[in-house]
Amino acid sequence: MSFISGLKAEYTQKRINKIKELEVNLNKQEGSIKSNNFSPNMVVVEKKTPLRAFPTMLSIGRNIDYSFKSLKNNPKIPQNKISSELLNEFEENAHSLGIMSIGYTKITPEIIFKDKSVLYENTIVLTKEIDKNAVDNEFNDKTVNDLKLYDELGKITNRLVDYLRINGFGAQASHPAIGSVTYPALAQYAGLGWKGKNNLLITPELGPRQKITAIFTSIDNLPFNKNNQHSWIPKYCNMCGKCITKCPEQAIKEIKTNNEIYKSKITPELCRGCNESCTICMSECPFNKQDYGSVKKRFEKINKKSLSS
Ligand code: SF4
Ligand code: SF4
Repeated sequence: MSFISGLKAEYTQKRINKIKELEVNLNKQEGSIKSNNFSPNMVVVEKKTPLRAFPTMLSIGRNIDYSFKSLKNNPKIPQNKISSELLNEFEENAHSLGIMSIGYTKITPEIIFKDKSVLYENTIVLTKEIDKNAVDNEFNDKTVNDLKLYDELGKITNRLVDYLRINGFGAQASHPAIGSVTYPALAQYAGLGWKGKNNLLITPELGPRQKITAIFTSIDNLPFNKNNQHSWIPKYCNMCGKCITKCPEQAIKEIKTNNEIYKSKITPELCRGCNESCTICMSECPFNKQDYGSVKKRFEKINKKSLSS
């Protein structure tokens, strides 16, 4: 190991330890929503990142730190009702910073990773576009590009949390690069889309091409999602399965269930993921090749045919 690589590994380990310490403190906080026996384990697989990505990693680390340390800036007695004017202003602000879609849901312990916790159940879910060129084409700096997007979205999340605090609300930023929750499931609960077999959120706006982040807040009168119009997607996934067959590492496995909808499971140790320049399960997904409406039309046509035969 070179001297520089050694320093990089030492720094990364220190950061991970620091984050764990901050998470433990949060876990002890009275009133926090904790994981339960049904919660998933968070698997962290160490990835090789090029040295040129180090400045971006430093920035991600600083912003993760900020998301924890700034919790002390939450108002002592936070407000819990937001006016529709202020919510509109918040959403406009978010869109002007590059956020694509916004959804609201109440978090449940089942989607909080084991041994983690969040401060409030009221959740704002935000998505940001992954550039289509970065998904469809091969180029040298795909890894750095992906980390930069995590960094950008982490900064936006912190800025929006600061905005809520200035307006008297309690808020906690969940950095997109780590987070205490399974983001695709959270976004599904917020009605933004549905989780495909590739384990990615599929939305009408961007198909599978987005990063997800969240804010937990004291605001309890948000327009929480009550139904999800995208529940047809798993049935389409059942007929498709392209992400499974195209994955070069056989990292996605289909699990047969007792009903007609099959589940899928990703093996994190096998998956190279965006930060190792693999976007195949995203690029090959029909929702990336065609718009949402066209895929839905095709699905309805096939469905109709099979029902009448
Ligand atoms: S990112 Fe690549 S390796 Fe991972 S599941 Fe998708 S296609 Fe497979
Ligand atoms: S490639 Fe097919 S099976 Fe995989 S997520 Fe996309 S639609 Fe679903």
